[in-house]
Amino acid sequence: MKNKLATIMISAAFMAAGCNTSTQPAAEDTFEYTNERFADLQMLRYKVEGFEDLTLKQKTFIYYLQEAALYGRDILFDQNGKYNLRIRKMMEDAYVNYDGDRTDKDFVAFETYLKRLWFSNGIHHHYGCEKFVPEFSREWLMAHADCSDELAEVIFNPDIMQKRVNLAEGQDLVLTSANNYYEGVTQAEAEAFYNQKKSQGDQQRPPMYGMNSRLSKTADGKIVEKLWTADGLYGSAIKKIVENLKLARPYAEDEQQQKVIDLLVAYYETGDLHTFDEYSIAWVENTEPLVDFVNGFIECYGDPLGLKCSWESIVNFKDVEATKRTELLSSNAQWFEDNSPVALEFKKDKVKGITAKVIKAAILGGDLYPSTAIGINLPNSNWVRAEHGSKSVTIGNLTEAYNKAAKGSGMLKEFACGQEEMDIIEKYGDVTDDLHTDLHECLGHGSGKLLPGVDPDSLKAYGSTIEEARADLFALYYLADPKLVELGLVPDAEAYKASYIGQMQNGLITQLVRINLGSDIEEAHMRNRALIARWAYENGKADNVIEMVKRDGKTYVKINDYAKLRDLFGKLLAEIQRIKSTGDFKAAQALVEDYAVKIDPELHKEILDRYKKLNIAPYKGFINPVYTAERDKDGNITDVKVTYDEGYAQQMLRYSKDYGTLPLINE
Ligand code: ZN
Repeated sequence: MKNKLATIMISAAFMAAGCNTSTQPAAEDTFEYTNERFADLQMLRYKVEGFEDLTLKQKTFIYYLQEAALYGRDILFDQNGKYNLRIRKMMEDAYVNYDGDRTDKDFVAFETYLKRLWFSNGIHHHYGCEKFVPEFSREWLMAHADCSDELAEVIFNPDIMQKRVNLAEGQDLVLTSANNYYEGVTQAEAEAFYNQKKSQGDQQRPPMYGMNSRLSKTADGKIVEKLWTADGLYGSAIKKIVENLKLARPYAEDEQQQKVIDLLVAYYETGDLHTFDEYSIAWVENTEPLVDFVNGFIECYGDPLGLKCSWESIVNFKDVEATKRTELLSSNAQWFEDNSPVALEFKKDKVKGITAKVIKAAILGGDLYPSTAIGINLPNSNWVRAEHGSKSVTIGNLTEAYNKAAKGSGMLKEFACGQEEMDIIEKYGDVTDDLHTDLHECLGHGSGKLLPGVDPDSLKAYGSTIEEARADLFALYYLADPKLVELGLVPDAEAYKASYIGQMQNGLITQLVRINLGSDIEEAHMRNRALIARWAYENGKADNVIEMVKRDGKTYVKINDYAKLRDLFGKLLAEIQRIKSTGDFKAAQALVEDYAVKIDPELHKEILDRYKKLNIAPYKGFINPVYTAERDKDGNITDVKVTYDEGYAQQMLRYSKDYGTLPLINE
């Protein structure tokens, strides 16, 4: 599970220029965090501080792992839609070979489309999932690119492949989603296929059925899984990944980590889901190394049924100093579990092995690039988590880059209700943002348990939203707890107010800036934030806990009673945990549909108008650093250098050329 930009809008993006006087005086920092901007996107860079200080062995290990991370890029493009690789290739060729005026209106629109396609790993918006609308003409493309009629139809016909992931209630979510996870099967057929697998398989320790395959109907009507393995679908990419994992293996930090690599390789070669679980267990128990990595089919947000996992990779190393903070939380995990407002029967008697650390990302790949997470909690298998715990990370150098880039955006001034709220956020925002992420990842997702016999997928399309709400509520509830002051994690008992202001403001109004007028809220993390904020608003109405203040035609969110708001968060946490623990689909559906989907069009328009005046890109993503291995005459690596001067288009074109691993059609 990942925490995607969950907290960015809360304080950092709200920070007005020059106001952040409460933190340490900035040392001379000439690093350029912000890069180019296009469409609704702002490109950033992150700094891998401390890489130079690693040992040669660690640097070499990272070098091969980052190669393995880059070799999977094409897999995600194909998972996101079966025409993506073809369209990318056609457009890149046209882009490179274009010999006309590069300031020409059509060319600029075409270039923007291509940059968006790279960013989304496909032709659908990375967040909203809707297909891009080209702002150049079909005629222009046909004249300047080697584009087939088939591809032109996919690009220009608004009725084809409208949404990458469709979660609209009442529709066939499989048939109406443009992703490439299912071929010719209906939602009912897919659900029946996996329900049968589940009912016949291990009930105690069920593997994550369907996570590494495409489900296809053959010509004679049989439904089969096409596995993503070294000899199966995506084999040419997986072989390159495996090759680099094997090159990395001798430089692993300990024997256990070598075992992790061996199991991952075995799984890539066979596609055996039990091997994947073994790998996950070995990985979660491998807590000592400084350098760590994720590489594989991990998250299921791209599948409306939540079964198929998109490919991603991150290579990272621990930020030892910052990790002291999360270690404090995880060493008190049992206390947090015991004292939560959740009913006793849904609590874990023994919270197992939650390891939490702050890391520095060294490379981002697949579904973590360029749009990324700021926190990750893995593995996703429920029984592995219950029996072996999970690893939770906060990605410190990415949060840092977001914060640096967001200063001076004007968001705080525009949307904060008053000076008091601004002061609170300026004073405490950075601290509570980080802490919210830590609590969400290392305690929230790890808390609670399913009752015996409850199917972990019983919440179906509402599962991701409910799970994210559970983790966020856990964080929100405890941010206001005196325990955090006692542990020295917050400076005083007022600090939590910054996160409460952020949560309510974001959930009720500011996150709407990321949605087009007339659209619903779709993405799980956004639904979760709307659910929490609107539920608290509605249920606090009798006591006037939260007010929507109108001033000069502008809407503001004002919290009148912070203590009561905490009680409301606690109440909702208890209910959401009950829903999760008992698999109460109807209740999940009602909560999400009532609070988390629809938007008041009048309010939406007002927020969009106000936001537009600030001229900020609502989404951000990262350009990767470049790692160069220096070798002696025998080919041994003698040093690895990291540089930050590659441009966005340059990087994308290089990746397509050097790490283009798949044929354009994968069937
Ligand atoms: Zn999460």
